[in-house]
Amino acid sequence: MEYFIDHYKILNLSPEATEKDIKKAFWSLAKIYHPDKGGDPYKFHQIYISYQFLLDQEKRLQYDKFYQQYKQNKFIQNLKKRYQNAKVIETYQFQYIVTLKTLLNNQIRIKTIKKKDRLLLANIRYDYEVNLTGQDFERDLIFKIPILLYSVCTHCFGKDLNCSYCKGLGRYKTEGIVRIFIPAHTLHPGQIIRINLEHIKTKNPLILPKKKQISIMIQKKLY
Ligand SMILES: [Zn+2]
Repeated sequence: MEYFIDHYKILNLSPEATEKDIKKAFWSLAKIYHPDKGGDPYKFHQIYISYQFLLDQEKRLQYDKFYQQYKQNKFIQNLKKRYQNAKVIETYQFQYIVTLKTLLNNQIRIKTIKKKDRLLLANIRYDYEVNLTGQDFERDLIFKIPILLYSVCTHCFGKDLNCSYCKGLGRYKTEGIVRIFIPAHTLHPGQIIRINLEHIKTKNPLILPKKKQISIMIQKKLY
């Protein structure tokens, strides 16, 4: 793949370029790179080869089939590289926000009010808070977000009301981690990001996320 010549890139063209576009591109580049005009002979040679190549309809047709694949591979490779170099924000850095303290601070103490309504009254509209440094906003990140999961009880599959593993519920709570790639420069302090868990695939098909969506408040560290 390293030896793949990107004829389109050499001529500053898109793969949709017409014959007219190719000729136009060649002549405008020739004005700059022709050795007679003081251009680099090697570069001009390559431009000429690419120009000849793309004008050959049969060659171009064959080439275009590979081109799509090449671009796709390149895209995946770049993404993999970014993934490897991304900074990991560990699970413990995500603070679960629904603590008694928060509720008390907001003076919502009435137990008879449903938890969901209490959160609304306390004006807490997110599940987690994460504190990032100024530099974190500038680079690719991987969020390792803790999530609550439901696992189907494999001892009774919900058929035994007296099951001691799930207490007859047919399922039990468990914990998991969702990894989310956050490209650089996409976050800002004070932002609440929402992550859809509906399509999250767990290794075990019997384990499902408890919530369909989680939201995270992005904060900037003050120190
Ligand atoms: Zn059970």
